[in-house]
Amino acid sequence: MKEKRIYNFNAGPACLPLPVLEEIQASFLNFNGSGMSITEISHRSKWFDDVINDAIARTKRLLKLDDTYHVLFLQGGASMQFCMIPMNFLADGRTADYVNTGTWSTKAIKEAEILGKKINVVASSEDRNFSYIPKNIQFNSDATFVHITSNNTIKGTQWASFPDTKGVPIISDMSSDIMSRPLDVKKFGMIYAGAQKNIGPAGVCMVIIRDDMLKLIPKNLPAMLKYTTHSDKNSMYNTPPCFGIYTIQLVMKWLEETIGGLENMEKFNQKKAALLYDFMNGSDFYKATADPDSQSLMNVTFRLPTEALEKEFIKQSIENDFGGLKGHRSVGGCRASIYNATPEGAVDALVDFMKTFEKKNG
Ligand SMILES: *Cc1c(COP(=O)(O)O)cnc(C)c1O
Repeated sequence: MKEKRIYNFNAGPACLPLPVLEEIQASFLNFNGSGMSITEISHRSKWFDDVINDAIARTKRLLKLDDTYHVLFLQGGASMQFCMIPMNFLADGRTADYVNTGTWSTKAIKEAEILGKKINVVASSEDRNFSYIPKNIQFNSDATFVHITSNNTIKGTQWASFPDTKGVPIISDMSSDIMSRPLDVKKFGMIYAGAQKNIGPAGVCMVIIRDDMLKLIPKNLPAMLKYTTHSDKNSMYNTPPCFGIYTIQLVMKWLEETIGGLENMEKFNQKKAALLYDFMNGSDFYKATADPDSQSLMNVTFRLPTEALEKEFIKQSIENDFGGLKGHRSVGGCRASIYNATPEGAVDALVDFMKTFEKKNG
């Protein structure tokens, strides 16, 4: 049994800011003088209304969203969005462009195909095991949207900047990098993110959707699978994931009041990622797997000289209180997920550990 908290490099669910966890703990038995836990309060109460509305207001301020954007909190994870997007936006005669940059994009594409929708995969980095973000993509001007995955959690790549789609709205899966940097939101018709990587616990998916996208939605969809059902009811058509929304509210408060906004968050994330990438650039022992211009600031994927050394590295890392450094089971190798909440000290400690391991085994 651990006596204290470890250095948490989990890919998701992942570490949350310590002050957020402490505030949850402090208010857990008696939320805001209600005499109840946030997990025991009606979602129709004033207490919860204040929570969800503050979470939305803070999200809008942080991302500089105007009133044409709606912030929703849905269930079913980011994976549910893979089918909801084509169901809602690709009525008969419509097509969409998809860019395939890894495991999650592939799943999104598959769901659209299962539904029999007409989509074009306009670019893919599968030829080199998704180790880069494709460039100079030709998009179709008649596409209803362009779907991308802004950060590829498993392969360790990230769009450094977003493509020029000539006015076609982008829909981005930002599960693993939402709120990690400022955005030019005008390019996006929709942004979605399972909360459990960067902004909260599992069980809630943040969906940011623009008015013009809502107009594309056919009437004959099941209520729960239709965005307008949720936008009409402020995400309270049915019982929302209350605890998750509350945690998101606190994370947004931390981003605004402690970090000081997304420009600061981005600088902090760049600094943390540079500690790892710069160290590996100077080492013949560790090798980052993604192309330099496509490397993720959130998920740093790397290999050691042999699989046996990787196994030993993971084993010793656990003994030294580092968690989550094993690469995804589908790709092997190692991965350090360094989301917004990862303290710089944890990354410093990891680099020290890597240096020591190299000295003994290199
Ligand atoms: C984790 C992840 C998902 C899946 O999220 P769920 O909430 O588990 O459905 C989808 N896309 C990306 C980019 C992810 O990192």
